[in-house]
Amino acid sequence: MRILITGGAGFIGSHLCDYFLARGEEVIAVDNFITGSPDNIAHLQNHPHFRFIRQDVTEHLRVDGYIDAVLHFASPASPVSYIAYPIQTLKVGALGTHKACGLARAKGARFLLASTSEVYGDPKISPQSEDYWGNVNPIGPRGVYDEAKRYAEAMTLAYHRAHNLDTRIVRIFNTYGPRNALDDGRVVPNFVGQAIRGEPLTVHGDGSQTRSFCYVSDLVEGIARLLASNELLPVNIGNPNEMTILTFAEKINALTGNKAGIKFQPRPVDDPNRRCPDISKAKRVLGWEPTGGLDEGLEKTIAYFAEKMKRK
Ligand code: NAD
Ligand code: UDP
Repeated sequence: MRILITGGAGFIGSHLCDYFLARGEEVIAVDNFITGSPDNIAHLQNHPHFRFIRQDVTEHLRVDGYIDAVLHFASPASPVSYIAYPIQTLKVGALGTHKACGLARAKGARFLLASTSEVYGDPKISPQSEDYWGNVNPIGPRGVYDEAKRYAEAMTLAYHRAHNLDTRIVRIFNTYGPRNALDDGRVVPNFVGQAIRGEPLTVHGDGSQTRSFCYVSDLVEGIARLLASNELLPVNIGNPNEMTILTFAEKINALTGNKAGIKFQPRPVDDPNRRCPDISKAKRVLGWEPTGGLDEGLEKTIAYFAEKMKRK
């Protein structure tokens, strides 16, 4: 297969490049480095089946030759990044998805959209299943991301209905692991970076809000299974091991031996109170569920950040 991955120099995108190259596929990554980094794909530079195109995917995408699948992962993804780049986030979800669908249609390729648990907003039900329509504030600071992804889902299914595009939609829940940018403000790099520096961990609010964390290799396996499946409608991929952010902070301090404790800070606007995926559809349709334990994944992530911080 020849697979094009937008956002291929990002955290998840670069792991997808590794995964498909290891399976003998050809990979074309497209990225403009707005939140990704050349470091994430430096090891692939001389790989005979890898090609990189530096481009903003909101512009017309021209690629010679055949393509079997387009995986659209380009988008700022952390609350800090999408609030810093609100218009770019709306554009990549809207215009970028349009261009990526158009490329897939022109090549007769399968199209897979990276959507998000943020389409559920601050959910009124938990766990969240795919048939829940969500509780999103369109005009709050997070609206730029939530609405861009909701629009991207609508665009994807419009291409399916109007042009019979062969579509897949993955709704990704909080994922962590090596290559997550240290400075993108997400809770895992923030806490791990603070713990390694021996600083108190910055818990927002009283830390009673919940998240559930999926290790990146589990996510990538779920995405590969979805791509290979016949499921046209959205599928949640995430780890249902829900915990409060306060408990998570205590875990990071324990795993790193950080004695500096916790510092409480104001809660960001519209920060969801609860988030936990209902993964019964992924289990049923893809035979997928996460396999890695949290401590094991965090140990690998802590080792990666410690090494990266030493080199800086
Ligand atoms: P990331 O910021 O590491 O990767 C996103 C990549 O997209 C970056 O390399 C960035 O430079 C690139 N990009 C952004 N706009 C672009 C544009 N206009 N043209 C070309 N490249 C562009 O973030 P990530 O965590 O790897 O997220 C990847 C995808 O998965 C995103 O679409 C995100 O919304 C989705 N997602 C991630 C999570 C998570 O927990 N990591 C959760 C839900 C959804
Ligand atoms: N959070 C926190 N301290 C930080 C960064 C994040 O307490 O330094 C909280 C944040 O308010 C949210 C949760 O951790 O409740 C997860 O935040 P993240 O930015 O990783 O992504 P989100 O799940 O909100 O998209």
